[in-house]
Amino acid sequence: MKIKVLDAGAFIENLYTTGITSESVAEETRVPPTVEILSPKTEFINKIKIAARETGDSGVLSKADIDVLALGLQMDGIIVSNDFAVQNVAEHLKLLWEGAGKSMTKKINWIWYCPGCKRLQDAKGVCEFCGTETKRRPKHPRNQKKQESRRKRL
Ligand SMILES: [Zn+2]
Repeated sequence: MKIKVLDAGAFIENLYTTGITSESVAEETRVPPTVEILSPKTEFINKIKIAARETGDSGVLSKADIDVLALGLQMDGIIVSNDFAVQNVAEHLKLLWEGAGKSMTKKINWIWYCPGCKRLQDAKGVCEFCGTETKRRPKHPRNQKKQESRRKRL
């Protein structure tokens, strides 16, 4: 059986008492003594950061989110998280995940844009042209649907 890698949301309601979590999660929340606390290796953290840039989730993932994803990758475990961005990156890397309560229904590719001058941006932050704070929206939902039906046909 695969090990469960738990993020902070998994400890609400005491639903999970076995599995592993990261030190950064343990700093945020009370972790049962039966849960093992580990720190992910840098190479896995780096892989998660790259994947999060690809999906457009880098701006919204916390250190604890990245650590949980990295541990999931490192241990080949099942990530337990209520965070849509965590679920999205897990999906992108084809990692197994489950929601501790609510779950995302499909993968989203986000793009960042400037609400001021409408230019597309690389990441969360401030637009280099007009200084407006960037926002994000799903990337071409219509094309995504097309891609999904194509995948189903294969
Ligand atoms: Zn702008």
